[in-house]
Amino acid sequence: MQVDFHGAAGQVTGSMHVVEVGGKRLLLDCGMLQGSREAELSNFDSFPFDPASIDAVILSHAHIDHVGRLPLLTDRGFKGPILAQEATAELLPIMLLDSASLQESDAERSNRKRKPGTPEIRPLYTRESVARAMLQVRTLKYDLRISIFPGVDLQFRDAGHILGSSTVTVQGDGKVLVYTGDLGQKNTPILRDPEPIPKADLLLMESTYGNRLHKDRETTIAEIGRILDAAWRNGGNVLIPAFAVGRSQELLYWFAQNWNEWNMSRWKIVLDSPMAAKVVRVYDKHHAIFDEAAQKVMQGSQNPFRLPNLLITQTVDESKSVNAMTSGVIIIAGNGMASGGRIIHHLRRQLERPQSHVMFVGYQAQGTLGRRLVDGAQWVRIDRANVRVNARIHTVGGLSAHADQAGLMDWYGGFKEPPRVVLVHGEDVAREALAGELSLKYGVDVDLAYPGESVTV
Ligand code: ZN
Repeated sequence: MQVDFHGAAGQVTGSMHVVEVGGKRLLLDCGMLQGSREAELSNFDSFPFDPASIDAVILSHAHIDHVGRLPLLTDRGFKGPILAQEATAELLPIMLLDSASLQESDAERSNRKRKPGTPEIRPLYTRESVARAMLQVRTLKYDLRISIFPGVDLQFRDAGHILGSSTVTVQGDGKVLVYTGDLGQKNTPILRDPEPIPKADLLLMESTYGNRLHKDRETTIAEIGRILDAAWRNGGNVLIPAFAVGRSQELLYWFAQNWNEWNMSRWKIVLDSPMAAKVVRVYDKHHAIFDEAAQKVMQGSQNPFRLPNLLITQTVDESKSVNAMTSGVIIIAGNGMASGGRIIHHLRRQLERPQSHVMFVGYQAQGTLGRRLVDGAQWVRIDRANVRVNARIHTVGGLSAHADQAGLMDWYGGFKEPPRVVLVHGEDVAREALAGELSLKYGVDVDLAYPGESVTV
C-alpha cells in the first residue's frame, strides 16, 4: 500500500491524497485551495495525477477544502464512484452548488472588466458540472465495512467534526490505513464524539490545532447568554455572522437548550441564509446520528429547528424586511467572516447604531470585514460607503469544530497499539508541536507530509 500526498500537506486547505492498494488508485478527498488569491488561482492548475487513472474518490466530509475540486475532477475525466457517508452526500450538492455560483459570478465580474481582445475568463466549474459529478456519488452508512474492489475494504466512522464527517479506514494488501479527515472536539453540540479506532498500520492525521488548547466550552456558552442579555437591555439587535454548516445549527441548538435561562421567547430569531436553511433540512433528516443529548433536545418541548419565534427567510424581500427591524431581533446570517453574503446589508444598516451588538463566533481571517471589526475599526467600508462603527463588537472564542492538541492526543490514545503517523492538514508549527507530543508519549514514528512525497506500508 502506498500513499502520495498532493494537498493539505504543510497547509490546511486543498486536502487530496492518493492511495494505491489492491491494484487500484483511491483518492482521499478532493479539496479546494483557499485563502490567498494565489492559492485560489492554483485551483485552475492541472491535477498532479491523471483524473482518469483514479478508480474511486472517498470523501471525509462536505467542507469545501475537502470536496471543492470534485466537479473539476469529473470535468477532467474521472469516471468512478464518489463514496460518501449519507449526510455528507446530502450536504455535498448544497456546498458545491454554492461554490459553483461563486465561481460563475466571479468569472462574470472579471469578464465585465475585461479589456477588448483579451480572452474570456471561464469559471473554475459551473452548476452543470456539479450536477454531473453528483451522478457518481454512492452513499455508505457509518460503521459498515464494505468491499469496494476485490481485496479492498472501506469503513466510515463518526469524526464528530460536522454532520456526516467521517474517519476513513481502508484495508487491503494486508494493511490498515486510517485517514482522519477533520476530527471534532468532544462534547460538540448535536454531534457524537469522534469514534476511536482499534487498529491501523498507518494513520494520516489532521493537525490544525496541534499546538493549541481551546477555551472551555461551558465558559463560552455562558458568555453568549450574557451578551444576549446585555443586548436586550440596550434595546438593540444582535447580529451573528455564521457559516451555513455547523455553527448556524449549533446556535439554534443553544437557544433551544437555554430557552428559559436566557429568556429566549422574548426575542425574534432570524436565520437569514437560504443555504443554512437547506442545511437545517439535512440536519433534521439525520437525528439518528446526533449524540444522546441532542436526541433528547429534539424530542423535548423546543425543537431547535422549529423554535416558535424562529423565522427562516427565503427571499431577498423577507431579508430586507428583517433589515428594517431595529430592536429585539437576533439575526444569524452568512458568511461567517462578513466577507460576503446577507450579513453585509445587516451590518451596513446596524453598525452605526450604538444599541446594536455584533457577535463573532468563528475565526476571522486577515483582510476580511469581520477581522477589521474584531480588531476594533472605528470606520469600515461596506458597499462603497463609509460606515461608522458604534455597535458593540463581541468575539466569542472556544467554538472550534476541530479537536485541539489534547483532543487529538486523547483520540490517538484509542488505538490498541500506537500506529505510525503521518501528519497532514496543519501548518508546520502545529504539526511539529503535535509530532513532539506523540513521540514523547507513545514513542511512535511521526512524519510530516509535504506535497509530492509518498509513504509505503
Ligand atoms: Zn472540515
